[in-house]
Amino acid sequence: MGSSLALYHLLSSFGHTVTVISPTNWARWLDWMPGAGRVIDFELNRDKAEAVLAKAQWVFCLDFNNLSRARHLGPLLKQGDYTRILIDHHQQPESEYFAYGISNVDKSSTCEMVYDLIIESGNNHLINNDIAECLYAGVMTDTGSFRFASAHASVHRMVADLKDRGLNHTKVHENIYDNFLENRLRFIGYVLMHRMDIFYEYNTALITIPKKDLLRYEIKTGDTEGLVNYPLGIQGIKLAALVIDRDEERKWSFRSKGDFDVNSFGRKYFEGGGHFNASGGRSSASLDTTIQHFLAAMKENALQLQ
Ligand code: 5GP
Repeated sequence: MGSSLALYHLLSSFGHTVTVISPTNWARWLDWMPGAGRVIDFELNRDKAEAVLAKAQWVFCLDFNNLSRARHLGPLLKQGDYTRILIDHHQQPESEYFAYGISNVDKSSTCEMVYDLIIESGNNHLINNDIAECLYAGVMTDTGSFRFASAHASVHRMVADLKDRGLNHTKVHENIYDNFLENRLRFIGYVLMHRMDIFYEYNTALITIPKKDLLRYEIKTGDTEGLVNYPLGIQGIKLAALVIDRDEERKWSFRSKGDFDVNSFGRKYFEGGGHFNASGGRSSASLDTTIQHFLAAMKENALQLQ
C-alpha cells in the first residue's frame, strides 16, 4: 500500500492517469493512507479493475516479484498487452515477466526503492506530505520500526530527509499501531495463551489459529499482522511460525532470528518464500496435516535450528 500509493502520487503529479489495484482486500487500519480510498480491491471490483487494465500502457508491480503472489489478479497480469515494470526487494524474482524494473534484496522495503527512484530521477522536489507519509508507513513496518538488519544507514538518511520535509512520523505510527479495535487485543491474548506451542529443543515456536478463533473474535484482514513476531521475543527462539486456517488454504508466516533462512524453508516445504528472516507459504492440506508437515520440517532442520 505504501509503495503503490507513493508511486501513485508521484506519477499523478506528472499528469498521468494512475490507478492502484490491490489483488485482495486490505486491513481497514490502512484506510487513513493518502489515496487509499481510490484503491480498487480486485476481488471486490473485478470488472472495474479489468477495465482499467484493458486500457493500461504500463503496469508497475510493487512489493511482489512473482505473479502468483497477486492471487486471482496474477493470470490477468501475465496476459495483458502492457509493459510490466518490477520494483521489489524479495528473493528470486520471476524476471521473465518484466520488461524493466529493479529487484534488490538488500533494500529494506519497496518504499525505500520508490524513494530512491524519486531522488535518482531528480524529482525530490515532488515529495509532498502524502508521498512522505506513504513512504514512511512502508519503510517503518517493513523494518519492524527500524530494528531489522535491513534498516541500513540509507534508511535512516531517507527518514531524516522526510522529516526535514515536514513529515509527522508520530501520526503515522499512531495511525498504524494505535488504530485497532478491542477484539484484536483480546484475540492476541487468547492466542498467546492457548494457541502457542514452544519446542525448546528446536528453538521453535508455533502459533496455530483454527477458523473458529477467527469467527469468535471477528478477526478481519490485517488483524493477525505482527502476531508471528511475538514468540521471537522469547529467549533462544530462532524460528517462529504462524498458521491460519483460511477458507481456501492454510496460510503460513515464518520469522527467524540470525542465520536460519526462512525464505528457503518456506520455498522448500510450503510453496512460499520471501526474505531470509521473514517469509510465508501456503498449504491446501487440512490444518492438522499441514501442522504435521511443519513439525516434520522442523525436525529435519534440527541442526540449523541449534
Ligand atoms: P507475511 O508473513 O507478513 O505474510 O509475509 C512475510 C514476507 O513473506 C513478505 O515479504 C511476503 O511478501 C512474503 N510472503 C508471504 N507469503 C508468501 C508466499 O506464499 N510466497 C512468497 N513467495 N512470498 C510470501
